[in-house]
Amino acid sequence: MEEIVSLCKRRGFIFQSSEIYGGLAGAWDYGPLGVELKNNIKRAWWKTVVQEREDMVGMDASILMHPRVWVASGHVDTFADPMVDCRSCQGRFRADDLDGDTCPNCGATGQFTEARMFNLLFKTFAGPVEDEASMVYLRPETAQGMFVNFANVLGSTRKKLPFGMAQIGKSFRNEVTPRHFIFRTREFEQMEIEFFVRPQEAERWHQYWMEERLSWYVKLGIRREKLRLHAHAKEDLAHYAAACSDVEYEFPMGWLELEGVANRTDFDLRQHSEASGVNLTYFDEETGEHITPYIIEPSAGVDRPLLAFIVDAYREEEVRGEKRVVLRLHPALAPVKATVLPLSRNEKLVPKAREVWAMLRPHFMTLYDDAQSIGRRYRRQDEIGTPYCVTVDFDTLEDEAVTIRERDSMEQARVPVSGLVEALRERLPPC
Ligand code: ATP
Repeated sequence: MEEIVSLCKRRGFIFQSSEIYGGLAGAWDYGPLGVELKNNIKRAWWKTVVQEREDMVGMDASILMHPRVWVASGHVDTFADPMVDCRSCQGRFRADDLDGDTCPNCGATGQFTEARMFNLLFKTFAGPVEDEASMVYLRPETAQGMFVNFANVLGSTRKKLPFGMAQIGKSFRNEVTPRHFIFRTREFEQMEIEFFVRPQEAERWHQYWMEERLSWYVKLGIRREKLRLHAHAKEDLAHYAAACSDVEYEFPMGWLELEGVANRTDFDLRQHSEASGVNLTYFDEETGEHITPYIIEPSAGVDRPLLAFIVDAYREEEVRGEKRVVLRLHPALAPVKATVLPLSRNEKLVPKAREVWAMLRPHFMTLYDDAQSIGRRYRRQDEIGTPYCVTVDFDTLEDEAVTIRERDSMEQARVPVSGLVEALRERLPPC
């Protein structure tokens, strides 16, 4: 993990938030390459779960919602973690993360305070008066924005069961112990699906979405043996769920959750119906009945999968006696698709290379690099996962052709400049 955290900082993927002021716990900033990778992950998810499907629609709800939403959802009463303090070192921990009564920080035994429940909701005020009546919460999940819009989406799209909504957006949780880099933070992004089904079909759809979500990670290059589904025991289920399985990845720090796939039953629509007084049922034309659909929820983060994609892609290899670090990211996720490299800073090569770069920019996310030896520049691109390097050499000035070098095999092919966009397009997945 240390290698990865250091690479992320050095190459501009992820920085500590407010670093020049000493940082802020549980908050991270995505740099020039990080934002590209993050956008590519979100785009790949949206394409799979919205664009390519008949039964899904997207939406984007606000982060601030009516405070009664969070009472009806159960968050105000139950969204809490047990917190303990170590009397010896004053360290603070989530009680359910601890193994026995020895402090992981100072090693003292039997020094923990009694566990206190700590609510994870962030609070703020809407409007100029800071009183109880103007208090609002920063959403801790995107899901509720979709439940409360059930009738709006149904009415405007005329979707029939089974159908789903998808949303990507920021969520906030005042985590007791943010840790493991971007794995557990206080501000993060989620990609959530709420899939509405007939109650008697819920189990089948739950099974379907578990498989579907697992295969999404595999399709985007994560090694299958590093992924598993972990079913929650009945006693560990959240108050709203009839069943839940997590998609887990084997990080250097162990098997950890990337995404939860839950059968939330009809809990959410019933709660919001009762609390708001607005009917959130569905008229089933097949049976002539009004029913409250069950909800299957594949709920993923963006940051945790992003970390898994980097960890899984990271390789240290030996090439002709030299070490190379390569990020074998799926080309659809790679922050930069191609980098243009003149063989040297020769006065004839540079303008030609810049001309080739200008030609590629409208089509792909690209970079240009002419600093240091060509070998070092290839290594720099390998390290950030760029699938193709385009080299402009002295022959280019004669034959109007360039060399394309592929990241993983390091194989090279000569292609005419006039056909370069097409040649790269053939090699890269559509996105
Ligand atoms: P955990 O048990 O790890 O706290 P959770 O089960 O509470 O997670 P969910 O409520 O199921 O998490 O949230 C769905 C997804 O949102 C998680 O699988 C994860 O990818 C992401 N997520 C949740 N909390 C955080 C966080 N504090 N930091 C980063 N991502 C998070």
